Amino acid sequence: MPELPEVETIRRQLAPLVQGMRLERVEILDSRWSHPLAPHELKDALVGRRVQHLDRRGKYLLWGFSDEVYLAQHLRMTGAVLCEPTPEPSHVRVRLELSGAMNSSRRKRARRHLVIVDPRRFGTGQLILGDEALESFFSERLGYEPLHEEFTPQHLRALTRGRTTPIKALLLDQRRIAGVGNIYADEALFRAGIHPLRPAGRLTSDQVRRLREGVIDALEAGIEAKGATIDDFRHVDGFKGSFQNQFLVHRRAGESCPNCASQIVKLVVAGRGTYVCERCQRKPRKARKPPTPRS
Ligand SMILES: [Zn+2]
Repeated sequence: MPELPEVETIRRQLAPLVQGMRLERVEILDSRWSHPLAPHELKDALVGRRVQHLDRRGKYLLWGFSDEVYLAQHLRMTGAVLCEPTPEPSHVRVRLELSGAMNSSRRKRARRHLVIVDPRRFGTGQLILGDEALESFFSERLGYEPLHEEFTPQHLRALTRGRTTPIKALLLDQRRIAGVGNIYADEALFRAGIHPLRPAGRLTSDQVRRLREGVIDALEAGIEAKGATIDDFRHVDGFKGSFQNQFLVHRRAGESCPNCASQIVKLVVAGRGTYVCERCQRKPRKARKPPTPRS
């Protein structure tokens, strides 16, 4: 599934191609994409509007149109946005046509054809009207942006305090930290030397500080490598990311740890395949059971 670095990669590639252009045509071939709106309702709200900016919040690609009209696009498992693909690929769910300003020398408008492909069909596009609605849409769904200055050690400490949930499950919870998924949670925990099963509330201040740095470093390395392509993630031009070649532990079960050469093992944490070096990331000791009362 595309995580923060993959969505940010798409945003950086797509923004210069669409910002300032007018949406001329929207063809939604699968009503699941626009649900709960019918395809024609979403289309009517967007066609004719100019794309003012393309942003990202967590794993959402946020299209900002004129008059505080927004489209919050989520790629979910297998979504991708492709520009001018020829021939048209399979699994197209949405087609978009945009046009730019009149080019005075050639007396022609720039045209742009985009398609949203999604083999598994979990991706969505949600219409949001008004800045207030936008604010509440994201405050209900997303926590801290980890690459934003608000993601301080103090704030991370406050998220973990008193919680018995494994730290990996907390990292995956979008309402606490936005944009971290299975790949970057494993990579961040390895960088921080923290076992994914450690109860969040039992992290020391030093571990919290290292975890924050691990999250930021893993995400930045992912963006630098233009994302990771394991299954379907594609760049806007159809090319693949390369971060999968730089994974330290993720998907490397049986290989040697880059730090200590112990074997990397695969566990299941929070229902997800999880990769760990149990020498660098010490397993938490079981919490002592309270003494059984004598009868
Ligand atoms: Zn190791």
